Amino acid sequence: MDLTRIRNEAQEMAGAATEMRRYLHAHPELSWGEVETSRFIARRLKEIGFQDIRVGVDGKAVGVVADLAGKEAGPCVALRADIDALNLVEENDVPYKSKCGAMHACGHDAHITMLLGAARILYSMKDELPGSVRFIFQPAEEHGMHSGAATMIEEGVLDGVGALAGMHLWSHVPSGRVQWRSGPVMASADGWNVKFRGRGGHGAMPHKTIDPVVAAANFILALQTIVSREVNPLETAVLSVGKLVSGEVINIIPEVAEMIGNIRTFSVEVRDQMEESFRRIADGIAATYRCNLETQYTRIYPYPVVNDRVLSELLRDTAIALVGKADVEESPMLMTSEDFSFYQTKVRSVFFFLGSGDEAKGTTAAHHSSRFDVDDDVLPRGIALMSSFACAALSGMSEGTL
Ligand SMILES: [Zn+2]
Ligand SMILES: [Zn+2]
Repeated sequence: MDLTRIRNEAQEMAGAATEMRRYLHAHPELSWGEVETSRFIARRLKEIGFQDIRVGVDGKAVGVVADLAGKEAGPCVALRADIDALNLVEENDVPYKSKCGAMHACGHDAHITMLLGAARILYSMKDELPGSVRFIFQPAEEHGMHSGAATMIEEGVLDGVGALAGMHLWSHVPSGRVQWRSGPVMASADGWNVKFRGRGGHGAMPHKTIDPVVAAANFILALQTIVSREVNPLETAVLSVGKLVSGEVINIIPEVAEMIGNIRTFSVEVRDQMEESFRRIADGIAATYRCNLETQYTRIYPYPVVNDRVLSELLRDTAIALVGKADVEESPMLMTSEDFSFYQTKVRSVFFFLGSGDEAKGTTAAHHSSRFDVDDDVLPRGIALMSSFACAALSGMSEGTL
């Protein structure tokens, strides 16, 4: 693998990549509505020379998969980018500001750009590749309940794939720095909704009522004991209440108290334990305070993101060779979630981060904030990383060292 060539080709694309990323930024589309985005991707792939391009996931004209055959029929490495935007009104005052009520506030516009850049480089190397590369442009990563990854897997996107990589820009990390991690790196995410239904009445006569507010208050406190007293202290879990609604006036005991929240973990065992504890405490509190209980518990992203050790080390070594040791470091574990985890239950894979935070350029705002912005100068590095990882993984797999 000629890293200098990959690095140079990626750097030559800097201007075009910035332009593309900003165009995509100005034209965001929400999960499962990425029709124009998908059309754009397919058109660009066709311009590069790709023949095998499939558009469509879940019966909708969103999502693109393209295959690149190398010089021989060998292993297949897949690279994935997510393509959807968020339901957010942009507050940045930039020329490429979103023109609608949606916003690329997670950097998926950059992910598309970098994967298209890698597609161009790998296409130019196709006569040297000892196998094939699949490019996955996945819709609906942000949707939560109806995951693009899960649906693409059902429709066969991983058929024949031996290894997979995904990359996410990360504004909390200095621009250009690569963060990798073996094992668990992002959490699973569950969502819940609980209603305690009592009997409303006069605030002066609590004995004639069944007060759901007291039940809710005790429930919130009791929930704190799951992480502190039930989960192994060497494991990690978080449970947060995101909303609590009950009552309206000072002298009425309300009928209902409703709460919603989320639970995140790094292993399916702890995830299952959290749900069991959560349900038991809800049942117990409802019984203690004589309330009826309605519970909804939803596995949103049921699996944590867990990286394959061998692929993680290959990614680390490739990144060091490409950008130098000083710009490559181990990532901390993050309690955020990603539907990349669905792929990981099926194929060995690695998910890693590329820093895009630059104070002077104003690109350190949090992901999912209305002030999020991308440091476009990191795009060539992302393009080179994806390209060189695909080459390294193909070589390793075809030589039997991976
Ligand atoms: Zn996001
Ligand atoms: Zn994202």
